[in-house]
Amino acid sequence: MSKSYEHLAALNKSHVWHPFTQMKDYNNEDPLIIERGEGVKLYDVQGRAYFDGFSSVWLNVHGHNVPELNQALTNQLELVAHSTLLGMANIPAIELAERLVQIAPDGLNKVFYSDSGATGVEIAIKMAFQYWHNQGVRGKKSFITMNQAYHGDTVGAVSVGAIPLYHEVFRPLLFQSHTIPYPYPYRHDGGAEGAKEATLNALRKLLEARADEIAALIVEPIVQGASGIVVMPEGCLHEMAELCRKHDVLFIADEVATGFGRTGEMFACDLERVTPDLMVVGKGLTGGYLPVAATLATDEIYSAFYADYQEQKTFFHGHSYTGNPLGCAVALASLGLFEERSMLEGVRTKALFVQKRLAPLSDRPHVGEIRQKGLMIGIELVRDKDSREPYEWGERIGVRASQRARELGMLTRPLGNVIVFIPPLAATEAELEEMTEILAKSIVHVTEGGVRS
Ligand code: PLP
Repeated sequence: MSKSYEHLAALNKSHVWHPFTQMKDYNNEDPLIIERGEGVKLYDVQGRAYFDGFSSVWLNVHGHNVPELNQALTNQLELVAHSTLLGMANIPAIELAERLVQIAPDGLNKVFYSDSGATGVEIAIKMAFQYWHNQGVRGKKSFITMNQAYHGDTVGAVSVGAIPLYHEVFRPLLFQSHTIPYPYPYRHDGGAEGAKEATLNALRKLLEARADEIAALIVEPIVQGASGIVVMPEGCLHEMAELCRKHDVLFIADEVATGFGRTGEMFACDLERVTPDLMVVGKGLTGGYLPVAATLATDEIYSAFYADYQEQKTFFHGHSYTGNPLGCAVALASLGLFEERSMLEGVRTKALFVQKRLAPLSDRPHVGEIRQKGLMIGIELVRDKDSREPYEWGERIGVRASQRARELGMLTRPLGNVIVFIPPLAATEAELEEMTEILAKSIVHVTEGGVRS
């Protein structure tokens, strides 16, 4: 029997501070309170069903309440829920590390666990920094990031972040990073080729001038997520990796959003056969069940830390729940389902289906661009299609479209003027058909219906 909605709503208002949420707005609305999930749907305490149109912030893979994943968790629960990885090991953490190395780009042989994308990024940054330090290279201390980058919300991750709205206030706390443009063809005069060249030229120039001061570059490979699902022109990632290698700068791929099939390959780096020096994974690693992340490193990185105790080259970093057995067990089960259910092939087929379903939307007067890689979709709405003039921030066009989608039975969360559609990879074509229908109706309603201010 559900607790009463009113009671829960009042408690929520009294005590819960929600992430990325202006609580003054939120507390003026009736909160959505989820009680359970089944397949690609979530159900609120009042019994209403919603498609999970953004995979609960880009992480759900096989749907909710998946018997195989539940079983893996139950099995592990009967053994042990948690024991530390500091100086000891556990079975699921070992087996998952082996599996991750098998599926990762060649050469990433070591797995360092953590518990969120941001901590995985922190680890990559600290590893890159200490990698040079441990070898006696003292100058290489700074990082390259990309315009509008998002790598999580801890202070190190924010230091390589570049979304002013989220990051600017913290500037005095942060270490300095160099920023190069992320190619954004829709808003570049030279289109895809021009945007790509601008990125590569900026990187080349920076590396030629300052490679001896730079430890690593960090990039959201192929798809820059939080900036608005911006898709890189082909070949760009590969050339960036080559430039870094040529100039002895480490290449960190943040696959937190793109990893585990989201783009149609296991990792976005696979799309261009790139092997990073460090790769961060999180979100979909556990199928969207539990907070486990990992930073994968090459043997070369690892060996710079491998020394006699007295040399003090140890990587002094860890979290209480690092390598949590429950999380690792469910991640293993999720990766098992990837194979059993041919998930990657499925994503590619469904991506084509979604592309066809959404194509007619591009004729609408306020749909600027539909961007898609696999099952990561962003639809940029514009006030004026010819000039590409954006809606003003205060118009909250994305928020309003998402609210409309919720009224019609689908949950999503916008990125400014970009409507996000990132369904669970397990969604069937019939489900995707319904979801894209809601998506289209919501967009047309707020951009052409004109019923709300
Ligand atoms: N990196 C990227 C590319 C992300 O998209 C995100 C989250 O959206 C993160 C890192 C942070 O992950 P988490 O929210 O698990 O800390």
